[in-house]
Amino acid sequence: MREALSPNKARKLRGRCGGGKSIQVAKGVTLPTPTGGCNCKGACIDPRICACAQLNGSDFPYVSKDGGRLIEAKAVVFECGPKCGCGPGCVNRTSQHGLKYRLEVFRTPKKGWAVRSWDFIPSGAPICEYTGKLMRTNDLDNVSGNEFIFEIDCLQTMKGLDGRERRPGVLPLPTSSHQEGFDDKKTESSAEYCIDAGTTGGVARFINHSCEPNLFVQCVLSSHHDIKLARILLFAADNIPPLQELTYDYGYVLDSVTHADGKIKVMPCYCGAKECRKREKRIALELKVILIGLGNISAFVPSNIVVCDLL
Ligand SMILES: [Zn+2]
Ligand SMILES: [Zn+2]
Ligand SMILES: [Zn+2]
Repeated sequence: MREALSPNKARKLRGRCGGGKSIQVAKGVTLPTPTGGCNCKGACIDPRICACAQLNGSDFPYVSKDGGRLIEAKAVVFECGPKCGCGPGCVNRTSQHGLKYRLEVFRTPKKGWAVRSWDFIPSGAPICEYTGKLMRTNDLDNVSGNEFIFEIDCLQTMKGLDGRERRPGVLPLPTSSHQEGFDDKKTESSAEYCIDAGTTGGVARFINHSCEPNLFVQCVLSSHHDIKLARILLFAADNIPPLQELTYDYGYVLDSVTHADGKIKVMPCYCGAKECRKREKRIALELKVILIGLGNISAFVPSNIVVCDLL
């Protein structure tokens, strides 16, 4: 793998740093006004006083070790937001601190692009946010032709993969109007909002599926409390050694991905896991890579990410 790091084949990309390009909000989508925060000063340290800690079950979801690590996967993590009295260094803003690890987008023989880290990543560390354009699922022009859509269905994520497996498919179903709160029934059938990383996503969109992933999806609320518009963060599920491919479980239903004509898109899985469910890979990713070519991939990759062409 050293070859992949040679200066001729690897290119460091400059530009905006942090967790990739930030979320853009599509026309017609309005983010809720920021909710009231905690009254802590400087940093939140006492969970008995911090109103945000109270929302997380009377304790902070993170420990400050290694710059902040999530103690355990939660239904939703309530972070401090713009109305809180604490500063940017607060432990309860761990997912807002941007990319901490040197990530590399590299090319694989079968799976198209993939992502790995040059650094050791400790379990519970935030990796990156799934960024892109925040839109109503119903407003997507062509769901089946875009493999970079992340549906914000935190209730399914909360229930774990079993929950996500019950989803009827990735095609949107009609949903009622915007409504704050945890409406289980509605979210069960489809996600009202999604993140389309097709044209404006960050590095998260290059992270492949695995049936035995080393990352997991965590819904995070920081500036408001509408779970349907939660931020989507990827965290390390294990201690991850350098250069191990980063993966998470996309959690699609088998045969749920369809072409525009309604035919099921056969999506073989190349994750290689012993317990592989023989599911999907991002077919469109490879197609797009052919279309955009390596020369233009930098447009899709944020700063301090390295792109390597192994072929
Ligand atoms: Zn705070
Ligand atoms: Zn606080
Ligand atoms: Zn707070």
